[in-house]
Amino acid sequence: MVRCNKPGCRFCQKGKGKGHGPIWILSVSLGKRRVRQVPVPHEWKKEVEESLRAFAQVQKLLKQIAQVNLDLFQERKRQRP
Ligand SMILES: [Zn+2]
Repeated sequence: MVRCNKPGCRFCQKGKGKGHGPIWILSVSLGKRRVRQVPVPHEWKKEVEESLRAFAQVQKLLKQIAQVNLDLFQERKRQRP
């Protein structure tokens, strides 16, 4: 929920109004502690959530691949003549 802070707005009255929304914000981490926040149109919410799930799955797979490669690296070092 957001408050517009316009005087006399009935949605944003102190103590009474609950603000405007709900609105959905996509927070994108850009590294180096930089985050970009992008408003998501209501009708795209589901699609954005599915994309985020897919992104999380790919990241999980990449971590597993990195772990396997690290194990292989260690094994190869052990067998080094
Ligand atoms: Zn308002």
